[in-house]
Amino acid sequence: MASNGTRPFRVVIVGSGPSGFYAAEALLKDASVRVEVDMLDRLPVPYGLVRGGVAPDHQKIKGVIKVYEKTASYPRFRFYGNVKVGADLSVDDLRRLYDAVVLAVGAEGDHHMDIPGEGLPGSHAATEFVGWYNGHPDYHDRRFDLSCESVAVVGIGNVAMDVTRILASDPEELAKTDMADYAVEALRASRVKDIWLLGRRGPVQAAFSPAEITELGELSSADLVVRPEDVALDEASREDLARADASAKKNVEFLQKAAARGEGSRGRKVRLRFCVSPVELIGEGGRVGAARLERNALKRDAKGAVKARGTGEFETVKVGLVLRSVGYFGVPLPGVAFDTERGVFPNAGGRLLESAGGPVICGEYVVGWAKRGPSGLIGTNRACSTETAARILEDLKAGLAPGRGAAEAEAFLRSRKADLVSFADWKRLDALELSRGQAAGKIREKFTTVGSALEALKTARI
Ligand SMILES: Cc1cc2nc3c(=O)[nH]c(=O)nc-3n(C[C@H](O)[C@H](O)[C@H](O)COP(=O)(O)OP(=O)(O)OC[C@H]3O[C@@H](n4cnc5c(N)ncnc54)[C@H](O)[C@@H]3O)c2cc1C
Repeated sequence: MASNGTRPFRVVIVGSGPSGFYAAEALLKDASVRVEVDMLDRLPVPYGLVRGGVAPDHQKIKGVIKVYEKTASYPRFRFYGNVKVGADLSVDDLRRLYDAVVLAVGAEGDHHMDIPGEGLPGSHAATEFVGWYNGHPDYHDRRFDLSCESVAVVGIGNVAMDVTRILASDPEELAKTDMADYAVEALRASRVKDIWLLGRRGPVQAAFSPAEITELGELSSADLVVRPEDVALDEASREDLARADASAKKNVEFLQKAAARGEGSRGRKVRLRFCVSPVELIGEGGRVGAARLERNALKRDAKGAVKARGTGEFETVKVGLVLRSVGYFGVPLPGVAFDTERGVFPNAGGRLLESAGGPVICGEYVVGWAKRGPSGLIGTNRACSTETAARILEDLKAGLAPGRGAAEAEAFLRSRKADLVSFADWKRLDALELSRGQAAGKIREKFTTVGSALEALKTARI
């Protein structure tokens, strides 16, 4: 097994979401090179969007954490939580300390709609709402006005579907999950009756999966309402459907059946609308009061892709809350080249580049959403991280400039952040969250602030 002289190669992975853990797994289980992995996260808790993104009513998906726990059990793996790269220490610091630096920081920013009124109170990114109900420390103090009767969710991708389902679900079902207690309380008090789910293009082009749309149609507390005219396909859509995969065909079949059912009798309605774009949020009493929508027509562009084009026909829907789910976007790190068009760190197969299309930077890598952009499910990150890990192993074997030993790295990290959280600490927090949950009749009660997690650790470590 190759090593760097008398000690193993030392790799630091920044970010403990799926891509970070899959990269760690690929490096640690490689039999030809002896690698030690230090994993850093800005939060005191691991797992990125598996904890802070995946919807609380989708607990099975979070079972993937068992795979990450197995990786964390390697003696050559260390976790250092509560340390933010770019704030507590720099990527340059890491370059000096480690043989290889891997960015697995995800894509924590979001796109804007760039329409008038978007900055009004009551207009939010779906990211904030997701972080809030999932108890992410960045968002635990956000407030969403659920005293209004109508909400607009802009976009019809997976995140929009999650957000809509959470707004439309029976809060007593959510109360048993790991949803933050304050969010369950707010949803219990919700007066929302109509949730407008707004898609720019038509049912054939919709990004949601048949499982996701079926789930919305099967809620105990809300009806999915689809207008027949929205699922009557135009020529471009009929052509697309003839070439589409089984998912798009199932979606269209499901939606046409839903349209035939009409309004239904449940108290809440999810009003799915196709071929509309918000063009303005209209203020009322200093906050969002309505959304002006433009009807779109679908046209093929020069490359043959079906695009939405405004028709100049408008309608206004009264809404008191708008959640835009129009895409996540990467966040740059000081001292690292960033592709501001695509929101990713420019790379070739995971090796960081000095600029998009520029030369490779020796010893620096990227994985996951930070590498490819914010698309793909948890499992998609495995192949992505394995690709980057293969490049790292090639470069280590070819002889990268050596980094420092484990003790020196840890001493440096502690000099920058006194309150580091180890994986053993996280397991203490995990046990506390589970027992708090058990006492409250739910799966888990999360610590939703960094302060409360660190405070609980003080006692738990004794
Ligand atoms: C709302 C939502 C719901 C989803 N639901 C599903 C689902 O049900 N099923 C599914 O398969 N996929 C789902 N996905 C997709 C899945 O979550 C992603 O594919 C996956 O999490 C991307 O992994 P990542 O490691 O690249 O990023 P992330 O999971 O975002 O992890 C990034 C990590 O980096 C840390 N970090 C960021 N910046 C720094 C810094 N400067 N210093 C230190 N640490 C830092 C963050 O704290 C975080 O832990 C969902 C995504 C979203 C947004």
